[in-house]
Amino acid sequence: MCVERELSLEVTKSRPFHSGKNLPQLSHRPCLIDGSTGKIYTYAQTHLLSRKVAAGFSKLGITKGDVIMILLQNSPEFVFSFFAASIIGAVATTANPFYTPAELRKQLTASKAKLIITQSMYVSKLQVEAADEDEFQVITVDDPPEKCLHFSVVSEADEREVPEVEIEAEDAVALPFSSGTTGLPKGVVLTHKSLTTSVGQQVDGENPNLYLKEEDVLLCVLPLFHIFSLNSVLLCALRAGSAVLLMHKFEIGALLELIQRHKVSVAMVVPPLVLALAKNPTVAEFDLSSIRLVLSGAAPLGKELEEALKTRVPQAVLGQGYGMTEAGPVLSMCLGFAKEPLPTKSGSCGTVVRNAQLKVVDPQTGASLGYNQPGEICIRGQQIMKGYLNDDKATEATIDAEGYLHTGDIGYIDDDDEIFIVDRVKELIKFKGFQVPPAELEGLLVSHPSIADAAVVPSNGFDLTEEAVKEFIAKQVVFYKRLHKVYFVHAIPKSAAGKILRKDLRAQLESATQK
Ligand code: ATP
Ligand code: MG
Repeated sequence: MCVERELSLEVTKSRPFHSGKNLPQLSHRPCLIDGSTGKIYTYAQTHLLSRKVAAGFSKLGITKGDVIMILLQNSPEFVFSFFAASIIGAVATTANPFYTPAELRKQLTASKAKLIITQSMYVSKLQVEAADEDEFQVITVDDPPEKCLHFSVVSEADEREVPEVEIEAEDAVALPFSSGTTGLPKGVVLTHKSLTTSVGQQVDGENPNLYLKEEDVLLCVLPLFHIFSLNSVLLCALRAGSAVLLMHKFEIGALLELIQRHKVSVAMVVPPLVLALAKNPTVAEFDLSSIRLVLSGAAPLGKELEEALKTRVPQAVLGQGYGMTEAGPVLSMCLGFAKEPLPTKSGSCGTVVRNAQLKVVDPQTGASLGYNQPGEICIRGQQIMKGYLNDDKATEATIDAEGYLHTGDIGYIDDDDEIFIVDRVKELIKFKGFQVPPAELEGLLVSHPSIADAAVVPSNGFDLTEEAVKEFIAKQVVFYKRLHKVYFVHAIPKSAAGKILRKDLRAQLESATQK
């Protein structure tokens, strides 16, 4: 079976992002709101500053195809730098400021970035040595340490000096890294075509799947270095002419206060944020009535948690998107968000985006499976990555000869074409020949009022158990999904994109058993 939605009227043209198609109508509308200062940048100002920075990058010697690393928390400078790079045909590699020096070095070496835009507090992590000075330059958005330049060097350049650059649809524009949930983060080459297609699949057309309006204010608290936030928040908002409220980090009090103050109408979230919004008592003290849409993505969201969030924002449409860095990233989106919305089921990740083909295959044989049969989800379309950075072998192993990207996720499609993710192939726990998806048990566990958060990993040879938790699950699931051991930890290790880091948990567990 292959579910496809090809609406010929809505084919997206591959147009570079900076083309500013809608600018004349939008120029005075708010584009970026800096949550920490309250400063607002209109569309015209955002465009102008991006062009200035582009001219500045060019003056520093950056040319088409060069890589610029953006190592920043969410901030206006992040946005200007990303668009500036795209204007001159350069490629932005977005990096996680919480990475260790070794992790940053890896990304720096792999991407061959020639310029790094960062904050002074992260410069020491770069461990710049004399030999590096010929390789890359460093710009900081605040007071620059020795040998670094200040952002004004680029933001005060003359926008009339932006060079004319021919950009092809197949040229790379972004080089995000996957989250590193299951192994090492992988560099993913996304082209102008990938991103414009993906954005078009979400917000363009007569009946956009994700209907954003000019009056909307989108919450941008998820890190922009992750493709979910970069694409579905920033790029989609700018395509639709909405405003983006930038928060440089997550803090529940500040978040609630900003939602209330700026009347946030669209909140893009990840399950840990849903957990906070559903369970934190302070939420009740704030007015969240402006929120009309909550989109959760990046990790499994249990039905139970979705229901709990509903009680906090009863007026909002809640739903999920399903993405993967390599897929450009969005594979599916809740049709409850459409201009002409359709009813959707709790727990579903939406339906496949338009102008794309999605199929579910048997992971062993590769045979296409029918409705309601779980298997590996595969997607084909103009939005998927060009390939992994410097890794043809991994690319070949992921994109098959027919152009399908194999996600490594197990899911099924129900009779209404809604996609349900069961779990990752790599995370499924095999017990007595049966498959147990940890995400399902986690959903049940967090629905218990006394459990704040939970993660399920396979374990062997432990006696430590917690009967009440086990019984709670045992009452709700088939025998082979019952919990065998329960460990209590202070916090579940999660990545910046909100994914449970099971490999870290497993390591913790292993070191605990060895003691
Ligand atoms: P790595 O590939 O480096 O191990 P990662 O797969 O977590 O890390 P991302 O590309 O950020 O890196 O995440 C994509 C994955 O996130 C998907 O393959 C899927 O497992 C999970 N995911 C995304 N959205 C959802 C969703 N709505 N429900 C369940 N899982 C989701
Ligand atoms: Mg992955």
